[in-house]
Amino acid sequence: MNYQSTRGRSGESLSSAQIIKQGLALDGGLFIPESIPTLSLDEIKALCSDSYPERAAKILSKFLTDYTYDELLSDCKAAYCESSFPGGAAPVVKAKDGIYSLELWHGPTAAFKDMALQIMPRLLSRALVKTGEKRTALILVATSGDTGKAALEGYKDIDGIRMMVFYPVDGVSRVQKMQMATQTGSNVNVTAIRGNFDDAQSGVKRIFSDADAVSFLDGKGHFFSSANSINWGRLAPQIVYYVSAYCDLLSNGDIALGDKINVCVPTGNFGNIFAAYLAKLMGLPLGKLVCASNQNNILTDFLGTGRYDRNRDFHCTMSPSMDILISSNLERLLCFTAGKEKTAEYMDSLAATGVYEVSSDVKAKIDESFCGYYTDEDETSATIRKYYASYGYLADTHTAVALCAAEKYIAESNDNTPMVVASTASPYKFAADVCKSLGMEKPEDDMDALDMLSDYSNTEITYPLRGLAEREVRFTEVIDACDMLDAVKKYVVK
Ligand SMILES: *Cc1c(COP(=O)(O)O)cnc(C)c1O
Repeated sequence: MNYQSTRGRSGESLSSAQIIKQGLALDGGLFIPESIPTLSLDEIKALCSDSYPERAAKILSKFLTDYTYDELLSDCKAAYCESSFPGGAAPVVKAKDGIYSLELWHGPTAAFKDMALQIMPRLLSRALVKTGEKRTALILVATSGDTGKAALEGYKDIDGIRMMVFYPVDGVSRVQKMQMATQTGSNVNVTAIRGNFDDAQSGVKRIFSDADAVSFLDGKGHFFSSANSINWGRLAPQIVYYVSAYCDLLSNGDIALGDKINVCVPTGNFGNIFAAYLAKLMGLPLGKLVCASNQNNILTDFLGTGRYDRNRDFHCTMSPSMDILISSNLERLLCFTAGKEKTAEYMDSLAATGVYEVSSDVKAKIDESFCGYYTDEDETSATIRKYYASYGYLADTHTAVALCAAEKYIAESNDNTPMVVASTASPYKFAADVCKSLGMEKPEDDMDALDMLSDYSNTEITYPLRGLAEREVRFTEVIDACDMLDAVKKYVVK
């Protein structure tokens, strides 16, 4: 199976290994498969007796056709092993009657990015071999906290790849800083920048497009690559857990084969929920896909009106991973519903004016599968409180946004199909805001919130966040943003 650009202007038709290595299409579009492979009810039934890595390898082998099944199985077993995901990769837990929580945060950084970032680097490492690449890939990442740590855990000690992460020295929490500064692995480096996230981000972008830097790297047998969330290698693994959740509900007798389930996803870049849409297109019996947003409710407005307008205020919320005004993966949905030519026009309009509006027939197609609801800050806190007090379920701030949105959808639609809510972070990852929502005083230092939450809820701190204060600090360097290129050059020759 080959892949093409959502904008159709570059005329590229490339294999899965090629697009995983390349990331973005030459016309600025995102790669999508030429056709959608199918998943029959018989196949779904057979997957019920498989482990998560086997389910993952079988689903991925339908999309990544230039990887052998054995390669994929070996990578999936390594990615979703017991030591990285103790107790299983994506358990489904009943939150309350009719609402299930698909917990995607049992990996090494306690958030859902691990589901993709534990496997994607292995796929990239093989892609380098398959495409005859002799050089080492140097991945540069600018992070406001969570993505950097998840990427470091995913790429550490992977063959053919090195990684540098830059973060704003005063722009991340103490927990996040400690997580990165204590990172293990022989092929990774972490550097703090004096400045904010934008300084780090534009620094990385500048280096990527600096011709001298590119040729310097080439001379040293390296080339730049990114760990971007729009890479197909990060999206495809996310299809798996929707299928896996369906299998688990089936095995538990919560649903019968062929029954529909709805899903509700706390959404930022539209990657997670788009993976659910792909699962639906393949044949997984999914009904409504509820897109949950926080106060940054641009997607709620888009799904309600068909008009995407990024000219609005940006809000910093308790669910920071969803604080986004441009949801890049939405472009893939536009391509599936409006076609390549229209998608390219919408993206031109977005770049020029910050606005595009889809036609009514495109909106009708989107409405068949999607609807959007948003949850404000007070509702988020109230939801955390209610789920803990009434149902004994401890949710993080992102999950709470989705639980509240799911309830709004159910109340408005009277649709009582079982609802699976994607739970994207451990409550301990955002412990300070969870503590505050539960009525405790918000601690000054978010490291203290971990113990407070553990004492209050009588649950254990999620394992990657345990004992953080005692770990050996490996990375202490703080530099000016203008010295980032020097740091890169120094690291390359090290
Ligand atoms: C990244 C992230 C999201 C948003 O997922 P998208 O795929 O970008 O829509 C939601 N919650 C958490 C905790 C995340 O880290």
